[in-house]
Amino acid sequence: MIIDLRSDTVTRPTLGMKEAMFNAPVGDDVFGEDPTVNALEEKAAQLFGMEAGLFCPSGTMTNQIAIRLHTRIQTEVICHKYSHIYLYEGGGIMANSHASVKLLEGDLGKITASHVAESINPDDVHAPETTLVSLENTMNKGGGSIYTLEEIKPIAQLCKEKGIKLHLDGARLFNALVETGESPKDWGAQFDTISICLSKGLGCPVGSLLLGSKADIKRARKVRKVFGGGMRQAGFLAAAGIYALDHQVKRLKEDHARARALGEMLSKLPVVSEIFPVATNIVIARLEGMTPEEFMKKLAEQNIKSVKFGPDLVRFVTHHDFRDEHLEEFGKRIMTI
Ligand SMILES: *Cc1c(COP(=O)(O)O)cnc(C)c1O
Repeated sequence: MIIDLRSDTVTRPTLGMKEAMFNAPVGDDVFGEDPTVNALEEKAAQLFGMEAGLFCPSGTMTNQIAIRLHTRIQTEVICHKYSHIYLYEGGGIMANSHASVKLLEGDLGKITASHVAESINPDDVHAPETTLVSLENTMNKGGGSIYTLEEIKPIAQLCKEKGIKLHLDGARLFNALVETGESPKDWGAQFDTISICLSKGLGCPVGSLLLGSKADIKRARKVRKVFGGGMRQAGFLAAAGIYALDHQVKRLKEDHARARALGEMLSKLPVVSEIFPVATNIVIARLEGMTPEEFMKKLAEQNIKSVKFGPDLVRFVTHHDFRDEHLEEFGKRIMTI
């Protein structure tokens, strides 16, 4: 048995999801004629109390479209230095939008309203104009850490006052919401745009959604086209998204429980000096006396897959295809390390 904890993207569609995909009514979505895509976009937008949605092939594309919407050449994005939009999107802020970026520090990958306030550029000939703040929830490189609504509200308020747009990279937003019990509508009310991944914990093969105002999503559709993301009978994929929103959200809590247990198991190993606080489905272990490469090699010999996450860090992500029997087996196998 291979235990794959590299990411929550490694899941395969369930039988129910495959049936939903198989039976989906479809049409040409570039003409706006795919009923299943339209239904998914509407369903997700309604869930968050936002006006419209746009189905895209990846989370990177939804984020990059949002950045394009909210910046121009010679403007600046504020985000945490661990943000996915900065670290893992191929330099897209620069490459796609010709914008500058200001990186903030903060515990567990999170920033505060006072950090943001200090970092907004003055109206000065030397400085790029600050037009966008981008947050991430849960925060991948912060160990799956959660922003609460109360932490977000002062940032949203500040952005409104200053006329700065606010985007949320919510690739794993549902992981946060099932844990806090906060409502998607309350989150939708704080942001100009939100991106949501269907292909992470929700278990779809492909897909992300950008949510926002009607006007922004209309522009976003055009940006998606130029990014090469206009798909045709995409309803087969959107059907998986509808199925996931209906059936695979609540169970994210199981992933979190297993992640906590996995963190406990790892913390007992002599080579593990620290486990980041496990808030959701991500476990980050700091090593001592062994490099990530050496540790991962030992894990791989036991058929356990993980990823390097820094000079002394290894990441494990729990997901739909990691069940109690895998957890138990994981516990047994790491005893030999
Ligand atoms: C996975 C992820 C994305 C998008 O990734 P894709 O692989 O392009 O779908 C964006 N933000 C975060 C925080 C992610 O973890």
